[in-house]
Amino acid sequence: MNIVMFGPPAAGKGTQAKLLTAQRGLIQLSTGDMLRAARTSGSDLGKKVAGIMDRGDLVSDEIVIALIEEQLDMNEDAPGFIFDGFPRTVEQAKALDATLQKRGQEVDGVVRLCVDDNVLLRRIEKRFKEEGRKDDNPESFKIRLGNYHKQTAPLLPFYAAQGKLTEVDGLAAIDTVAASIAQVLDMQKTGMETSTKPWWKRIFGG
Ligand code: AMP
Repeated sequence: MNIVMFGPPAAGKGTQAKLLTAQRGLIQLSTGDMLRAARTSGSDLGKKVAGIMDRGDLVSDEIVIALIEEQLDMNEDAPGFIFDGFPRTVEQAKALDATLQKRGQEVDGVVRLCVDDNVLLRRIEKRFKEEGRKDDNPESFKIRLGNYHKQTAPLLPFYAAQGKLTEVDGLAAIDTVAASIAQVLDMQKTGMETSTKPWWKRIFGG
């Protein structure tokens, strides 16, 4: 089962992806974590992306697509993946569809964590004080949020048109959000096994 955890920066995608990894054995693929690891290792890639990341801009599609493909190749026997922070552009989403198709797989569902911008700004102020991540500073974060609205939000109609999008209230407590996601995934699994009716119609009707 391949799930895209979708939402603006600081919506809680990483937290929920980690819970799903622990509960269901799905592998979390976070392009943000991969890029931060490249920086920590001091690799050429890390040096190349450092400034872009600190500014709050997106690194090139080519770079993140290559990172994802590398991980898919390294984890061929995985029961499935949770894509966290990827895709972030329509180009990336198309590349993900294509690379999964080559492997006889597809994106099975997209879970959108809905969180208001003002709440994100408050969350990120707190995270910046606690963790000191450079790109959480107020200027960079505004750029990241702007990039989300400009470049990433257009993926919503892309996935909605494929009937794969489910929205979850990301403002609720972590456990409540996790329970809503679990319900969506369980319905999807049951739907795939026992029903010819698409899972999103079983949940939302229609
Ligand atoms: P994140 O931890 O997912 O918020 O990512 C941190 C930063 O890494 C982003 O602000 C971007 O600079 C870069 N990044 C992570 N994922 C992507 C992606 N899919 N496409 C482009 N840039 C990315």
